[in-house]
Amino acid sequence: MASKRGAATEMDDDQTEFETSKGVKVIRSFDQMGLKEDLVRGIYAYGFEKPSAIQQRSIKPIIEGRDVIAQAQSGTGKTATFSISVLQAIDTQLRETQALIMSPTRELAVQIQKVILALGDYMNVQCHACIGGTNVGEDIRKLDYGQHIVSGSPGRVFDMIRRRNLRTRSIKMLVLDEADEMLNQGFKEQIYDVYRYLPPSTQVVLLSATLPHDILEMTRKFMTEPMRILVKRDELTLEGIKQFFVAVEREEWKFDTLCDLYDTLTITQAVIFCNTKRKVDWLTEKMREANFTVSSMHGDMPQKERDAIMKEFRSGASRVLITTDVWARGIDVQQVSLVINYDLPNNRELYIHRIGRSGRYGRKGVAINFVKSDDIRILRDIEQYYSTQIDEMPMNVSDLI
Ligand code: ADP
Repeated sequence: MASKRGAATEMDDDQTEFETSKGVKVIRSFDQMGLKEDLVRGIYAYGFEKPSAIQQRSIKPIIEGRDVIAQAQSGTGKTATFSISVLQAIDTQLRETQALIMSPTRELAVQIQKVILALGDYMNVQCHACIGGTNVGEDIRKLDYGQHIVSGSPGRVFDMIRRRNLRTRSIKMLVLDEADEMLNQGFKEQIYDVYRYLPPSTQVVLLSATLPHDILEMTRKFMTEPMRILVKRDELTLEGIKQFFVAVEREEWKFDTLCDLYDTLTITQAVIFCNTKRKVDWLTEKMREANFTVSSMHGDMPQKERDAIMKEFRSGASRVLITTDVWARGIDVQQVSLVINYDLPNNRELYIHRIGRSGRYGRKGVAINFVKSDDIRILRDIEQYYSTQIDEMPMNVSDLI
């Protein structure tokens, strides 16, 4: 596993200037964090050698029981940050759910469960992915068996809590991954519904690459003197991800542009984002008609099919994935080095998350934006907002991958 995890650059170098609350210390090795022996063993066995910048700052306050708001660029180890902290916090002798992690998509909830089980390999830990689209009876059986940690999507988690199959009395930690999305209009009510069932003293931990001001404001309602570890907006784009645009003028030109790029897409693995499920279906169909091999995934597909596509893409059996924003956040496939915005995303945050599917843990990445004449304005806004640079795509783009 170690070789797979070797990164292109040193992520533990302090390249990012964090804005942190008073008292946040930097701990440069896993050995110095006061973690359980079996956990440290699991971390090293998983292939991690040194903690990343966000891990160096956030793990300690979380395991000390503080409410924490942690922001760091995509692919810099936030998942591992809370996974390690949660594993440290639970008592495996007590077979009850002690930590609840919620994330916006089923695939992300499953990915988190897998990371926890891998890092906790020597701890005898039970961690269940509680997600929609799966058999309810099976979910109930697993929960009744006893799960130390539950990683789930809000709908099914709430359902299981309401039915009392997910018992909350021993929960001491709530983690909201992709916190800004979880506290957005679409999910907010569901999160509060769950929150009301948790013991009042539950520690709350929020993480995301993007934490807009209004979301930070909102946290006052349910967090107690949180430690903040934040990144300035102009440091949010990663050096390793080169960003380009192709001026296509009109929508109809996008397709040919994509076909021209196909060889570049398959150098390693690529993700192509469209703004709607219909468009994903349409583009997939059209690419296949033109004899290109592509996979596709969106939220209207049956979960079994979504699972199969994830498996295929994670294994590298498929190299090009056409998808919606269901894939924008959190999903970690290290081989992805190219992201195409076939459509520009609907907001600034999504841009950061989408391009962050490449360039994981210091690897190189390339993002290419297809822009129609009336999109240029939006692209310039993104460029300015993050103080970054989005140049016209050069001829030799494949050399950068
Ligand atoms: P984020 O949640 O910030 O997007 P992840 O936690 O998914 O990032 O980490 C991105 C990748 O980096 C994953 O493949 C993960 O296994 C790897 N990674 C995380 N922390 C470390 C570390 N300390 N050393 C080596 N690799 C790491």
